[in-house]
Parts: sequence; C-alpha cells; structure tokens
Amino acid sequence: MAKKIVIANWKMNPDSVGRAIRIAKEIENNIHSSKNLDVVIAPPYVFLDSVRLTVKKTKLGAQDSFWEDVGPFTGRISWHQLKRLAVQYIIIGHSENRALGETNEEINQKINAVLGAGMKAVLCVGEVERRNDIVFPQIIQEELSLGLKNIKKRFLKNLVIAYEPIWAISTLKKAKSDNPKNVFEMSILIRKELLKMFGKKTAFSTPILYGGSVDEKNAAEFVKLGKVDGLLVGGASLNANKFTEIVRKVSGL
Ligand code: PEP
Repeated sequence: MAKKIVIANWKMNPDSVGRAIRIAKEIENNIHSSKNLDVVIAPPYVFLDSVRLTVKKTKLGAQDSFWEDVGPFTGRISWHQLKRLAVQYIIIGHSENRALGETNEEINQKINAVLGAGMKAVLCVGEVERRNDIVFPQIIQEELSLGLKNIKKRFLKNLVIAYEPIWAISTLKKAKSDNPKNVFEMSILIRKELLKMFGKKTAFSTPILYGGSVDEKNAAEFVKLGKVDGLLVGGASLNANKFTEIVRKVSGL
C-alpha cells in the first residue's frame, strides 16, 4: 500500500507560540504512528523549533525555503537551516506565494535545492479559476514543466505534488471545495505530465495530494474517490479536533 500523507499548512497562524504548542500537542496526542501515513505540521518558521520539541510521531514541514544554503540573503530561510531543525517536508510554490510574485523559475530553483538536499518537496499547482473558456489544464502543465525543469531523475523519489485549485482555498470569499471526480481527472493529467517529463516510474510513484477546503466531512471522499495519496489542509488544520479527524479518516482507508 502506498504511503499516505496529510499535511497541516498553518500559514501565518496561530498568533502565539503558546497556541502553536497547544495545537501541536493535541494533534500529537490524538494520532497513532503508522508506517503507511505521514502526518506533517508546517507551522510558521518562528514556531518550528517549539513544535519540533512538542511532537514525535508528527513530522515537521515548512511553508517555503530559499534555494541557497547560507549567505547574504536578508529575510530568507534556507532548506539547509530547515534540515538542521529536522524539517522533512517543504511546501514550494503555494498559490499565496505565487500571488505575491513568486515565479515558476524561482520555484524551480527551490525545488531543485530541496530535492538535492534529500528533503521532500511539495510542489503546489492549481488553476485560479475553472471556466469553459479558459484552458486551465495548460496552467497546470506549465507549472509542472517549469517548476520541475532539469530536475535530476535521481532526486525525484522525494517529490510530492499538491493539486490545489485556487478557487477552492477556504480563505477566498466564494471558495467551495472541488469534487472528487474532478480531482481524479486532474491527478491523471498530472501523472500524464510526469510521464512525459520523467517516464513511467515517476509518473506512477509520485504522491499526489489534494488541497482546497478539506474538512473532516469531505476528507475521506477526496482520498477514496479522488484517488489521491493524501491531503494538504489549511484552515481546518488549526483546529486539532478537525485535523485529527481528517487524519483518522485518511488512515482508515
Ligand atoms: C491551502 O491554502 O493550502 C489550503 C489547502 O487551504 P484550505 O484548506 O484552508 O482551503
């Protein structure tokens, strides 16, 4: 059975280290360790060390990282520093960063550095809107082909793709979750693109996650009917009860 992955993307929340520790502790206390499931918390950088000291079964993630290891880069945080903090997963190319100007070329450099360091890179891809008059699969294909350009084949075993349609992200005013049928179709499109770029092995073995308004009610459907390998959870991951219920649903499949 392929390993499942459920990642909590806390974004710029919560507002204090005490709250971060409390949520992490509740999650940690309510999950079981399993070799078939990675549960990952990606808190803001400033809480990483406190969360690290709080959890054991839960793995540590980061929400971004710079491509250089150390040096004169004011305000940046490197994969190297994150690795030393025991971070295993790094989210790259989240739509909220793309919206602030992050380019596919920068994303490509970050992915290259993270994978080169033997860490898991979670590349986020997704269309801004879905309408009949726009060719949205093209956007996903472009994000994949540019984001993964010239990545060495031997690094690909640590690649994870998160399909996150931007219109489904819960913080948007009119957000609504996608449906499992679309998610399944998009996962096929992503695998076809990986097949073109890297061949069969990568196409079939790369975990694909879904993210966008996932909660404890729809989590199981997305994984089971959408046939994805896990979930990237934003809003609901700040509520330890909801998040552990999502994890419970996924681990029961
Ligand atoms: C996200 O932004 O990565 C995300 C999945 O958010 P939400 O679950 O809140 O839609």
